[in-house]
Amino acid sequence: MPLDRRSALSAAAAVAAGLVGVAACDSPSRPSAAPGSGSASPFPSPAKSAGAVPGHASVPGEINSGPRDRPNVALTFHGQGDPALARELLAELERGNARVTVFAVGSWLADQPAMARRVLDGRHELGNHTENHRDLSRMAPAEVFNEIDACAQRIRKLTGSIGTWFRPSQTQHANALIRANANRVGYPTCVSYDVDSLDFTDPGSPAVVRTTLSQVRPGSIVSLHFGHRGTLAAIGPILDGLRQRGLHAVTMKELMG
Ligand SMILES: [Zn+2]
Repeated sequence: MPLDRRSALSAAAAVAAGLVGVAACDSPSRPSAAPGSGSASPFPSPAKSAGAVPGHASVPGEINSGPRDRPNVALTFHGQGDPALARELLAELERGNARVTVFAVGSWLADQPAMARRVLDGRHELGNHTENHRDLSRMAPAEVFNEIDACAQRIRKLTGSIGTWFRPSQTQHANALIRANANRVGYPTCVSYDVDSLDFTDPGSPAVVRTTLSQVRPGSIVSLHFGHRGTLAAIGPILDGLRQRGLHAVTMKELMG
């Protein structure tokens, strides 16, 4: 059986056993009750409290891409899974002179606290990807706050700062409730993406490379995941492809700076 097929099956088995959440950050946004309707939300509308990023956000308080007039792209990773594989992936990125942003799941950092330092030591950025990677779009306001805040405090304890960036879990786009709570914890914007590599579906590394390079353009934010062998194998060809297009892999701060 080919390796990719095997790992897809074992991933599926793990999901069935409730061990991991493969749907990860990339599940499409599902319709949910309008936050702020009625008295459900105790927080002010983020349209007033969270500033839009001029020219770069289709929704106030959410970034989908960076400036299109500079030759930079941000590779962004869901931070969870086998730490040995994560280290291999970071080393491969560094061999290709890429700087990336890792959105770490708090419970993963609880188990693997050394990964926070490892990410920063590679001159990458560390972002918040909630404490337990639950579906934020379906949670009550207080739970949403707790999921974001618990991860923020964990990152602060490990690095001295909550970091600049937050990406919600299990929804591509942050609804108003998520944006308001991210803001309240200390993140002015939520980070989405405009290129979904679909690596979390374990389609094999050639498909990950093809999907990524066929969509990437200046300013793109690419969604990728730790914890998948196919992603590691795709990194070299993706970095080669970016180079051929004259694009540099930079951190979110560099992309937006
Ligand atoms: Zn995720």
